[in-house]
Amino acid sequence: MKRDEIVRRDKQFLWHPYTPMDAYIAEVDPIVVASAAGSWLTDLDGTRYLDGNSSWWVASLGHGHPRLLRVLAEQSATLAHCSLAGITHEPGVRLAEELCAIAPPGLSRVFYTDNGSTSIEVAVKMAAQLWRQSGAPRKSRFVALEGAFHGDTLGATSLGGIEVFRRPFANIVFDCVHVPSPAEGGHERAFEAIARILRAEGDSIAAVVIEPVVQGAAGMQIYDPAYLRALRELTRETDVLLIVDEVFTGYGRTGPMWACEHAGITPDLLCLGKAFASLLPMGATLATERVFDAFRGPKENALYYGHTFCGHPLGAALAREVLAIYRDEAVLAQVARKGRRIAQAFDALAALPGVERVRSIGMIGAADLADGAAGYLGPVGWRVYEEARKRGAYLRPLGSTVYVCPPLTISDEDLDRLLEILDESIRAVR
Ligand SMILES: *Cc1c(COP(=O)(O)O)cnc(C)c1O
Repeated sequence: MKRDEIVRRDKQFLWHPYTPMDAYIAEVDPIVVASAAGSWLTDLDGTRYLDGNSSWWVASLGHGHPRLLRVLAEQSATLAHCSLAGITHEPGVRLAEELCAIAPPGLSRVFYTDNGSTSIEVAVKMAAQLWRQSGAPRKSRFVALEGAFHGDTLGATSLGGIEVFRRPFANIVFDCVHVPSPAEGGHERAFEAIARILRAEGDSIAAVVIEPVVQGAAGMQIYDPAYLRALRELTRETDVLLIVDEVFTGYGRTGPMWACEHAGITPDLLCLGKAFASLLPMGATLATERVFDAFRGPKENALYYGHTFCGHPLGAALAREVLAIYRDEAVLAQVARKGRRIAQAFDALAALPGVERVRSIGMIGAADLADGAAGYLGPVGWRVYEEARKRGAYLRPLGSTVYVCPPLTISDEDLDRLLEILDESIRAVR
C-alpha cells in the first residue's frame, strides 16, 4: 500500500490508544513505521526517527536484535503455542527458575501473565484472596500513590492516581486510598501520611501497590528510595502486603536490574511486563513463599485465575534470551555509563527558558515545560514532539513533561544525537 493510502484507511478504520481521535483525524500525519532496527524507526517514506521512548518503554534492547529474532524463529518451529493449564514446557520452566535466581531475594514463585496490566490484576487478586483465607477477610482495600499508573484494566485503573485517566471510570472502580506521592513535597511528609493510614486502618487494608523509585506515567516523577525502604518496614509492622510494580522500572531502566535494589527491599509481590519479553506481550508476577503458601491446602484455596496466553512458549523463550543478552552484553554496565550522559544533558536543559524542572535516573531523563497550568492535555509537549520529529526523533511527551527513555543499548553517537534533538526542539518552541 502507498503511504497516503495507509494513512487514509488508518483514519477510517483505526481507533488509536490514548488519542483524541478528532484532532488526530483532522491534524495528524502519523509516522508510518515500515521497519525498525536498533534505536531507529523508519517511515515508509524513508525518513528515520530515533526511538526516544523505546516504543512505549518496551524495546530496552532496541529493535530487531538478531539473537531475539533467531530464538523467535527456532521456538516457533518447535513449539509456537500451547497453554499452561496443568501441562508444562521447558522454556516456561527454565525462565521461572532464572527469574527466581535474579529477583530480589525471597521471591520464589512465578505466575505468568500476558502484559503489565494483568501482572497487576493478578497481584491484586492474590492479595485479596490471601487475606480471605488467612482469617482476615476485612483486609480488602488497597493503597496507592497519587499520580500512580498501573495499567488500564479495571483493577489497574482502580489503583491509578492520574485524574484524566481515572475520571471516566470513577463510579465503577474498587476502593483504593490514594496517598501523597513521595516525589512531591518531600518523602518524609509523604511517609507520615501513609504511615497514619496504615497504622489506623491496616486491619482493612490488603496491600500497598507502588511504582518503585520512578512514577513513570505521572511524568517520570523520581523519589527517594528511603521512602520505599521505610514503606517496607511499615507494611511489615502493620501486616499489609507490598506489591511493587516493576513493569516500567525493571530490567535496568533506572540503573540496577530492579528499582527495588535502590532500597534493598523484597516486596511480597513483584510485577513485570514491557521489556520482559522484548517484542511479544508477556508479563509475570513473582511471589514469596508466604504468599504462595496461602493458596495451598483444600481445592477451594487455589487461585482460580489465568489468562489464555499466560506462559506462552514464544514469550518465555524470548524472555530467557533477553536475560542472556543482558548478561552477555553487560547491559547494566552500559546503563551506568550512558545514564551519566543523560544526567549531564538534562542538567544543562534546566538553564533553557521555559524549562521549569529537570530530573534523571538511569536511562530516563525528564524536563517539565512551563504550560500555564494547562496540565496533561496542554499543547506544549506536543509542540516539542513536532519539532523533534522534524529533526529525526520520536519523542512522545507525557503532558507538559518531555522525556527520553531510549533503548539501553543505544549507541553513544545516537544517544548524543537524541539529546541534541531534544535540546534544539525545546529551544525551537520558545
Ligand atoms: C505500562 C505500565 C503498566 C501496564 O502495562 P501494559 O502492558 O500496558 O498493560 C503497568 N505499570 C506500569 C508502571 C507501566 O508503566
